[in-house]
Amino acid sequence: MPNTSMTNQTVYLTSLDKDVIALAQDFLKYPSITPDDQGCLTHLADLLGQKGWQTHIVQYDDVINLYARMGTGSPHLCFAGHVDVVPTGPVEEWAHHPFGAEIHDGILFGRGIADMKGAIACFLSAVHEFSLPNNASISILLTSDEEGDAINGTKRMVDWMRENQQYPDVFLIGEPTGNTVGSVIQIGRRGSLTGQLTVLGKQGHIAYPENFDNPVTKMVTCAHALKTMALDRAPDPDFEPSRLEFTSIDTGNLASNVIWGKCQGRFGIRFNTQHNATDLSEKVKTICREMTQADPKIRISGDPFLINKSDSKDREWLSCVHRGLRKTTHQSAQETTQGGITDGRFLTQMGPVLEVGLPEQTIHQINEQVSVEDLHRLKACYANILTTFFYDSIDHSLV
Ligand SMILES: [Zn+2]
Repeated sequence: MPNTSMTNQTVYLTSLDKDVIALAQDFLKYPSITPDDQGCLTHLADLLGQKGWQTHIVQYDDVINLYARMGTGSPHLCFAGHVDVVPTGPVEEWAHHPFGAEIHDGILFGRGIADMKGAIACFLSAVHEFSLPNNASISILLTSDEEGDAINGTKRMVDWMRENQQYPDVFLIGEPTGNTVGSVIQIGRRGSLTGQLTVLGKQGHIAYPENFDNPVTKMVTCAHALKTMALDRAPDPDFEPSRLEFTSIDTGNLASNVIWGKCQGRFGIRFNTQHNATDLSEKVKTICREMTQADPKIRISGDPFLINKSDSKDREWLSCVHRGLRKTTHQSAQETTQGGITDGRFLTQMGPVLEVGLPEQTIHQINEQVSVEDLHRLKACYANILTTFFYDSIDHSLV
């Protein structure tokens, strides 16, 4: 049951019997900057509970997660996402208040509308009008920790779901995808790791090389070695080439005649399924040690994942989503693995993960926005995916 101690915040989500636009506006009004959901998930749990869903508010440290399920049997589709948003940036630069949920000329403005509160509203609205077959299940997994550390959200909820015998057959994530609703299916994501390297030398006057040891020289040599290390064995049909980029090399030195004694470098690697994060970080560490005698600090965000087209369950799920989108758009959707990381990296341990959401052009920007028409269209896409999954494929391999 929902933790009622969390319900002291303003309640904007007052009913699920609203149209999709009003529902999206309700979600938008919570200033749920990561990781504080501002009571949003507890309010949603209350509403779902009233509609007969079994709801679980699961809190890890300061992060609230919601798992709700309708039905007890199989097939079981889980919709996953997050209600937390990135900070707004300067509010005065927004044309309309980032949490005002205002609509102007058919455009709904607000932080998190595209990433990804609008998609949550679309899914809830589609499910609300959907008639679930007997013995089937739909679940919803929402966190407030996706835009931040991503430690106490979906990652831990995967363990929670296993402990509580919740094993969805397939996952649909409502993260923003592509530039036109229903035109793109995210079938995987690259892995990501970041590194920080601190190289020590000896400070001195630039004119007395015998008296200083310049850490910048070692850093630059090391950066070159990292940039030119062999990554992919061959071009990958499903992914862009793996790539390492330095984001900063800095001593903090403002003087022109001083060699500083310490230099810091930062880099990130986005990599495809030819690598795993552990092996790749060992490779990076070896090069850093050889070149600078220093150990980099490596933070692993996640391994890459990809729908497995040689697995019948994965293939059937992908086919369902394609057919659902085609019913709505009358066009074939493109498959992609581009873009940033999502919580799909955790859910992929449990089952096939696909992502379909709102247009991604304005996410994380000032004046993040989505058209009212696109919200209606995404809701129709989700409705058609649900119908396809539960009615067209119920006799296939998913049961
Ligand atoms: Zn997102």
